[in-house]
Amino acid sequence: MYVGFGYDIHRLERGLPMRLGGVDIPTAEQGPVAHSDGDVLLHALCDALLGAVALGDIGRHFPDTDPAYRGTDSAALLQRVVALLAETGMRPRNIDCMVLLEAPKIAPYREAMRDAIARATGLPVERISVKATTSEGLGPIGAREGIAAYAVATVEPL
Ligand code: MG
Repeated sequence: MYVGFGYDIHRLERGLPMRLGGVDIPTAEQGPVAHSDGDVLLHALCDALLGAVALGDIGRHFPDTDPAYRGTDSAALLQRVVALLAETGMRPRNIDCMVLLEAPKIAPYREAMRDAIARATGLPVERISVKATTSEGLGPIGAREGIAAYAVATVEPL
């Protein structure tokens, strides 16, 4: 079994849509400034899975300078990361993610996010954890200037 770690952060701006964990968050008043859909949770998760098999990072496989990835659906990137893992003879085993944002509350969307990650990775939802915390008003996340996510994943042989 191998372990990988990932992190991502994006700036937030008013009036932009927010997608998180593969789910649209209609109650968000701000959204990420990004080349892709700006889904920090799935980006952190892609980096965790790539890291577990030492395959580099998301920017190496899907460069944000490539017009092909403009507005791209990060769930599709996650599927491609799982396919890259399979080429190395590995598959995801379990996933734990932590989102850092001040608002809105993501609890109402948590199960939809777990379902979306399950669809993209082929994992049962019981192996997928999605958690969230605010920054208690501290720092740039607390000032609602950004959104960040951490992810840890284990992988196992196919
Ligand atoms: Mg990102």
